[in-house]
Amino acid sequence: MAVIKLSSPVTSINGIGQAAADRLARLDVTTVYDLISFLPFRYNDWSRVGSVYDASEGDEISFPCTVMTAPNTNIRSKARPTTFFVGDGHRRILLTFFNSPYITRKFAVGDECFVHGKVTMFGSRLQLVNPYIEKKSKVNPEELIRPVYHMTEGLKPTFLPRWIKTAIDLCGDQLINVIPEEIMTREGFVSPKEAYYKVHFPKDLEEAEKARRQIAYEELILLGIGMKLMAQGQSEGEKAPAIIPSSSGALSDQVKARWKGITGNLGFTLTDDQIKAIKEIQMDLQKNRPMNRLVQGDVGSGKTAVAILTMAMTALMGKQSVLLAPTSVLAKQHYDTATKLLNGSGIDVVLLLGKTKQSDKTEIKKRLRDGKAAVIIGTHALLTDDIEFKDLALVIADEQHRFGVKQREKLLIRKDDPAGINSVHNLVMTATPIPRTLALVLYGDMATSVIRQKPKGRQKITTWFVPSKDSSDITDVIVKKLEAGEQAYIVCAKIDDDQLDPNAVTQYSDVPDSGITSVFQMKEKLDQTGLTSKYDTEVLFGCMNEQQKLGIMERFINGEVKILISTTVIEVGVDNPNANVMVIMDADRFGLSTLHQLRGRIGRGSSKAFCMLVSESRSELALTRMKMMCESDDGFELASKDLELRGPGDFFGTRQHGIPQLRAANLYTDMSLASEATDAVNRVFERGGEEAETLKDAIGRMYELRFAHKMEAL
Ligand code: ADP
Ligand code: MG
Repeated sequence: MAVIKLSSPVTSINGIGQAAADRLARLDVTTVYDLISFLPFRYNDWSRVGSVYDASEGDEISFPCTVMTAPNTNIRSKARPTTFFVGDGHRRILLTFFNSPYITRKFAVGDECFVHGKVTMFGSRLQLVNPYIEKKSKVNPEELIRPVYHMTEGLKPTFLPRWIKTAIDLCGDQLINVIPEEIMTREGFVSPKEAYYKVHFPKDLEEAEKARRQIAYEELILLGIGMKLMAQGQSEGEKAPAIIPSSSGALSDQVKARWKGITGNLGFTLTDDQIKAIKEIQMDLQKNRPMNRLVQGDVGSGKTAVAILTMAMTALMGKQSVLLAPTSVLAKQHYDTATKLLNGSGIDVVLLLGKTKQSDKTEIKKRLRDGKAAVIIGTHALLTDDIEFKDLALVIADEQHRFGVKQREKLLIRKDDPAGINSVHNLVMTATPIPRTLALVLYGDMATSVIRQKPKGRQKITTWFVPSKDSSDITDVIVKKLEAGEQAYIVCAKIDDDQLDPNAVTQYSDVPDSGITSVFQMKEKLDQTGLTSKYDTEVLFGCMNEQQKLGIMERFINGEVKILISTTVIEVGVDNPNANVMVIMDADRFGLSTLHQLRGRIGRGSSKAFCMLVSESRSELALTRMKMMCESDDGFELASKDLELRGPGDFFGTRQHGIPQLRAANLYTDMSLASEATDAVNRVFERGGEEAETLKDAIGRMYELRFAHKMEAL
């Protein structure tokens, strides 16, 4: 028999077949280790034994009892309910089981049992539907704290703990500890095997929390340190071409003149923060070591200018650079910006999208190969194996997840360069406001440039809450702006009857899905007001054909389309300074960060911008969030408020930052734990020696198991 390892597929566990494995995969559980680290999200405490006597509807009760009547299955009813009474000496209660004929065989009058369930009413009678029931002799009094796991359809809740137990028994000894000795001793931590055992099957809730804390330490170390070790491992021995000479005296007059021409095309003066970011990047580009820098700046802070100027500089130095955008709409927009900025500079700019015609692609690829194209803008369509560059030196990813890094390896050019150059400089631009402490864990290995200032001349966006979809304010404001020659955005949370916007969430709202206005309903509404016959209106959503999307965006940006009704596809990066009013329908359906990103589409020009948050939800949470949006326009502040509101019990949407869901740690409440854990590890590394080597090795191996394969899937 093959040895079962932590990395083995779940199907190696007895009882897990392919069907169950497919279901587990939906929970992101594919390996034995995934199974072990799939933690309960809460516990049922059955140790607080209750009684039937004072139970009422809705109570969850656990109690020892005696079977009073023989189980009886009603075979005429379709659901085949099996019913019988149990009593605890004070009162009887009816137990009802659906489709569980085995119950009849298992229990008989007089049996001593243990029952747990939720009390419901059946007529005037109390009953428990599908409760847990077991012969008293078989219930271990040590196991009265029952783990509750997130479930997916088709998985039986009772199976999961059994599988997890088997997995820990078989492979628990292979778990390697990654927590430094100093913390282990101080916190009284146990072996990883024991910790996992205790988090799944605790004696009491206190033990469960202590074990969770230990596993959170482990998780944060793997995330914060493991990731860095991986990155270092990858970048060791990497050499990128130095793009810029270290003294500006080395620049020819011709280069200086061309640079002046380009900056003259900007049409504005750069903010101090933009200049600082460009300088920091320039310093990096003077070196042989590949740059690994993150530019973080709130929406509208002007990151694109920084990116394109950096590309221009690279081109002036005779090297090629690539800008990767997450969508073709954005890529096209960056292309337009670059073309304008580099007009007359003699620098050749190309755009390459998935949808680019085959014949054009062939021509573009040729220009990449022979080096004629210097500034290359595109989507991930660029990342195909058959693309070759003459002299690629810099890759910029706009609004890119942290872990898109992997994909970029595809762009690594040659392995046989005479000067030993085997890598490129990397720059990542992001508007996702990440609280500082979290950024330290996620981006700890990257240098960061922050653009805090907004360009001068921006007016504050006025945001207000509109409590009714029928309010005349909505059309009044839009009409006013349209009459002034400006354009308008309307954002909806739904595409059509059965397709919600992927960013639309339910947890803040008390408005049902059916009550949400779709883009098409919105269009109809405007049709009725006669607005759309006067002003060209288009509908835009994510799953539309790319070509169509591009066409609409192009006509919106050049001013032909006056009203754009869309889903959150416009959330990222789109720039049209002439559109200064935005209506967000069912605003309660979006997280604060999404709302802030959306709102960032307006207020980019010099005219006064208005954002209307329309919501008919009256839930307290929805109203609080609307109020915050009206009061703050600082992305960082809103992001931490967002985290606070979600509360400690709720998982922070890590996926949006490009990291897999955490299972034990909560990035908001465990932040101090995170820095403590990573500090302790770093201290061990600084001391060096065998302890450091062992720890490094352990972290590397566990990171591989816990995160590495998931990163690639993101
Ligand atoms: P983001 O950081 O969200 O990507 P953009 O780069 O799209 O922001 O810039 C937003 C808008 O601000 C664009 O229209 C851009 O031309 C303009 N802009 C950028 N920098 C400045 C500046 N220093 N002064 C005035 N306008 C600027
Ligand atoms: Mg941008």
